[in-house]
Amino acid sequence: MASPAIDSSVASPVLGNVLRLSKVKHGMRYIKIPGVPYGAVCVFIRFLYSSCYEEEELQKFVLHLLVLSHSYSVPALKRACICLLEEGLLTRENVIDVLQLARNCDAPRLAFICVRMVVKDFKSISSTEGWKVMKRANPALEQELVESVVEADTRKQERQRKMEDKKVYLQLYEAMEALLHICKDGCRTIGPHDKVLKGSQVTCNFPACKGLETLVRHFANCKTRVPGGCVHCKRMWQLLELHSRMCNEPDSCKVPLCRHFKEKMQQQSKKDETKWKLLVSKVVAAKNAVGSFSSRRSGLL
Ligand SMILES: [Zn+2]
Ligand SMILES: [Zn+2]
Ligand SMILES: [Zn+2]
Repeated sequence: MASPAIDSSVASPVLGNVLRLSKVKHGMRYIKIPGVPYGAVCVFIRFLYSSCYEEEELQKFVLHLLVLSHSYSVPALKRACICLLEEGLLTRENVIDVLQLARNCDAPRLAFICVRMVVKDFKSISSTEGWKVMKRANPALEQELVESVVEADTRKQERQRKMEDKKVYLQLYEAMEALLHICKDGCRTIGPHDKVLKGSQVTCNFPACKGLETLVRHFANCKTRVPGGCVHCKRMWQLLELHSRMCNEPDSCKVPLCRHFKEKMQQQSKKDETKWKLLVSKVVAAKNAVGSFSSRRSGLL
């Protein structure tokens, strides 16, 4: 490219230096910018003189202009290129190329966005031409990206597992609420002897009440003679014990066996104690998590 006498050092300190060191031929200084299409160089030079560009041209040569603006240290143009890429020019086809350029041109946020896109859409991006070329030329990057995808998958599974756990603890908490409610007020067909029950037609706000009613009925009538009871009876025993572990008023408590379990706790093994304490803390945490997001059943405790 031929440069008339401008002070390129203002627009690009690197280009300024290159020009200063270049030879003068026919009163002009010439430098070569290899490997860049003519159109991209035109946009670049125009920007150096005027700080202006046509959006359309910038889009067309954005990758070349990113390299030029980085190599010749023209931060304003580099920012424009990065913005354009971040805000919509990334595609499945070019994301791998852009990622490599972003790394080479010191554009960490753009690189991060590219990696995120690869992780999200690994299946189709890993079958693009860009991926195949990168795989041959830069196997370390391929390895890195595959690892990112695996990590993201693991994190996602971990999150799902935690969500499911939380759901279980929340259900236990709801069972605790319903148990207290049934033993104190009675609901539908079961309750304390001194309460008048309103039968199955009544609507109840405790989500676990219906299930617990069925379980209590089973518990009272179970004929399965296996040591420790059938699965349903075992479940009931667990719920009763969990209640007792969480109960602060064993003396006035209406829940069956509450005192009994409190007394039994005196002789429990260290291992049992730790196990139950952990369960109680998780159930309480699940309750608190719900309480902080909504007050759907506030006032019923
Ligand atoms: Zn109820
Ligand atoms: Zn049973
Ligand atoms: Zn109790």
